[in-house]
Formats: sequence, C-alpha cells, structure tokens
Amino acid sequence: MAKMFIAGESVDSLSGQTYEVRNPANGELVDTVPKGNQEDARRAIDAAAAAFDEWAHTPAEERATLLSKAADLVEAERKSLSELLTREQGKPLQEASTEIEHFLHGLHFVAGLASKVRGAHVPLPAKNAYGMVVRKPVGVCGAIVPWNFPLTLMGTKVGPALAAGNTIVVKPASTTPLSSIRIIELMNQAGFPKGALNIVTGPGGVVGEELLKSPKIRRIAFTGESSTGKHVAEVACGDFKRVTLELGGSDPMIVCDDADIAKAITGAMVGRFWNAGQACLAVKRLYLFDKIYDEFVKGLASKVARYQVGDGMTRPEKPNIRMGPLHTAAQRDEIEQQVKDAVDRGGKVILGGARPEGKEFEKGFYYLPTMIDNVSDDVRAATEETFGPLLPIFRVSSIEEAIERANKSIYGLGSSVWSKNLDYIEAAVDGLQAGNVWVNSLHYGYDELPFGGVKASGFGREHGPEALDYYLEPKGVVIVH
Ligand code: NDP
Repeated sequence: MAKMFIAGESVDSLSGQTYEVRNPANGELVDTVPKGNQEDARRAIDAAAAAFDEWAHTPAEERATLLSKAADLVEAERKSLSELLTREQGKPLQEASTEIEHFLHGLHFVAGLASKVRGAHVPLPAKNAYGMVVRKPVGVCGAIVPWNFPLTLMGTKVGPALAAGNTIVVKPASTTPLSSIRIIELMNQAGFPKGALNIVTGPGGVVGEELLKSPKIRRIAFTGESSTGKHVAEVACGDFKRVTLELGGSDPMIVCDDADIAKAITGAMVGRFWNAGQACLAVKRLYLFDKIYDEFVKGLASKVARYQVGDGMTRPEKPNIRMGPLHTAAQRDEIEQQVKDAVDRGGKVILGGARPEGKEFEKGFYYLPTMIDNVSDDVRAATEETFGPLLPIFRVSSIEEAIERANKSIYGLGSSVWSKNLDYIEAAVDGLQAGNVWVNSLHYGYDELPFGGVKASGFGREHGPEALDYYLEPKGVVIVH
C-alpha cells in the first residue's frame, strides 16, 4: 500500500482509512492509498510551517543544488515511474515518459533560477534616504493538482515554491496519487529539511478544502476545472492568501489559406489527441479558411485514423499510434453528450463518434478519436471545454471572422494561428483573448515562457522566470543614513 509523505516520513492516514486506485484501461486495482482527512492535512501543514524558517534561510545556491539532486533521483526511476503513471492515469507509456521528462526539465529550470532572484535599489525624494525592494519567500504553500498531467502540474508548483525558499504541501487528484507520492519520496532523499515537501492524499472537498482554509497557508497554487477554481478563489482569497488559478480552456486553432498544411495537420492532430484530448491547452476548436478547408479535413482525418485506442502499456503496430482510455467513466459520458448535442444540432461526424467495439474494450473507458464538422458556434462542444478526443471544426472566410468567433468562448488559455502572412499573424497575436498565442506551433507549455489564462481560464502564471514572482513577496525597505 502507498503512504503519504509528511515531515520526512511515509505515513498512513491518522484514521487508518484507505481507498483504491484503479486502472482506467481495465479496471484493475493498481494500489491502495491513505484516505487523508483534515487532521492529516493539518499535520502536513504544521510540518511545512516548522520547516519554513530553516528552508527560507538556506542559501539559494544550496536550494538549487538540492533541487537538481532531487531531479536526478527522480530521473533514475523514470522507467518505473512512467509505468506507474500509465497504470493509474491511462496515458500511453511514451506519453508518460515524456511527461516525466517535462517535469524534470521544469525542475532543472527553476533550480537554475533560485540564485538569480533580484530586488531593487530605489532613489527616494527624502534627504539621505534610499529605498530597497527585497524579495522574501511567501511562506507555506498549498499545491492542488488535477489528474490529467499529475506530474508536470505538480512540478510547476513544487519547483518554484522550493526554489524561492517556501515549504509546500501537495494534494494530488484522488485518482492519480501514486506516481506523485513516489516522486515526493524520491525528492526528499535529496536532503530537504524534514517537512519542506509533503504530500497528503484524500478527497478534494476535505484535504484540499483544509489547505484553502488553513491560516498557516499563505499561498495556493491550483490547477483544475473552472468551477472548482471559482470555489478555490472564494475561500482562499477570502482568507487573503495569494492564489493562482490554472483552469479550463477551449483553445482555438486558426489555419489560414497560406499555411503550411502538412505542419498544421500534425499540429492539430497532436494538439488535440495527445493524452486522449485531456489537456488544458489542447486544440479544442479548429477554424479553417474556406480555401483550404476540404484539403485540410481530408488530410487530418487520414492521419487521425492512425490512432489505435488500447491499453497504454501496449504498443500498436507501426505506423499506428496508441491512444489510451479516458481517465474516468464520467469523462467519457461528458464527451458522449457533447457529441450527441453537436449531432442533434446538425453536426456531421467525419471520424469516430462512438466507443470502440470489442471485448478488450469493455472494462476500460475507451472512446474513438472524433472529428465533427458543420457545427454551429453554440453547440456544447464549442461553448464548453471538451476534455477528451473530440474536435469540432468550423469554416471561416477571413482572419477577422476567425478571431471574432474564437473570442466568443468564456475561456482564454491557449490559441494558435498558422500562416506565413504577417498581417494575419499580427491580427491574431493582438486580437486573440488568450494567455498564450502559438504561431505555426503546437500548443505546448515551454518551461521558459510564462503560461496561464485569462477570462474563465484563471489568473496568475506558471512556468518561466515569472513563476517565481508568485512565490516571492516584495518587501519595501527605507534606509535613512
Ligand atoms: P478538478 O477541479 O475536479 O480537481 C482538481 C483538483 O482539485 C483535484 O486535486 C481535486 O481533488 C481538487 N479539489 C476538488 N474539490 C476541491 C475543493 N473543494 N477544495 C480544494 N480542492 C478541491 O479538476 P480535474 O482534476 O477534473 O482536472 C481537469 C481540469 O483541469 C480541466 O478543466 C482542465 O482544463 C484543467 N487544467 C488546467 C490546466 C492549466 O494550466 N490551465 C492544466 C491542466 C488541467 P479530488 O481529485 O480529490 O477531487
């Protein structure tokens, strides 16, 4: 049985209660984990509070060294961690391994920033006086993480928090705690002070809620659905915590009449169907210029047809590509309802639109990669987040029309434009309401650039040197001499 990690030790829940983690590919038991409650959360928060002073005063270069060492310890177990991630989350092994690679890259990136934090020297109008801005760690942080990319999204919180001298309590999604627990255990072997890095498993409404409410926590980093994010903001901001919210998205991808079609097709395919479409920054609405519409749809459909759904632990024969199951039955139900709604309102299924048939699929939450066109802007697949392998396609006749329709969404996370025409590119970069615009590029969260959303996609940024700003408190100092 897996255990939580609190104050430098692997522990059971105080109540002794546990719950099961099951494989979405076949329903098999992967492991059991402690079902933590408020008391367990408080134990971890107290441990993080006790460790704060020592870690905040550890020289930045030493913090960086320990973080890099922690990354190396995780790297050494990459293979078994990938397998564990596949079994608990459902994603194919190669995608799981890529997720760990991204996690490690992010950790090394922030470790490099730890000793490069800068303040300011400020001339003041008073005589013999000057000001300084010093930047102090915020305090104990709470990280609340979803199930779709459990490791990278834990890394985007744990890395900058520790690099900046904060201590942290992680609450993983209930359905994907196992690889996260193992990573926290491994990272702790690097030699952080006991209690600097903790993980507590248990229901969001209990363990997560305690993190939101605890007066000892000064900072909440949340990634998850917009509706949960709203609740997180109400509770945690109400308690004057510093909060960042990385929420849902409905990224538009606009392909103009002069685009490199082959590259754009690959961008749409990977951008939509990676992780079985369960990604915040996925291509969720495809806007195609009239002139290239038919060629693009045909080319994309023939490439997407190469996806073969199945257990992520197995490989399909080349040139097919593996797509795993959806993570939960509820996730698949939602996609099915969104497809039905689009079809009921005139949408035409070009590919997929159903569960795969066969005995081998009966115990998993499989769904075929699906493309639908002839859809209106008000179908659920356009107005809601589609968190699965469903791509609605829209026809547009100008960049202005594409941008206007793209901006109708309540979300504003990612977006992309595919063109060589600077006028089109400039119009999209300027006009798309989104935290990120990719030009002729896959929707991908680079560690080097700030990433986050506007509108219902949340606020605050992770990744990039900017991530550290959310873990440091600027303190104004006036010196009179
Ligand atoms: P949820 O909002 O359901 O859950 C996210 C986390 O919040 C889980 O750990 C959950 O715990 C916890 N939680 C649930 N209720 C509470 C509560 N009352 N107080 C505190 N914590 C709580 O999201 P999903 O896990 O379904 O993740 C998918 C969503 O995440 C999608 O909308 C996706 O777009 C978004 N996302 C956004 C990203 C971004 O960077 N903008 C990146 C990746 C995903 P438990 O599992 O125990 O319920």
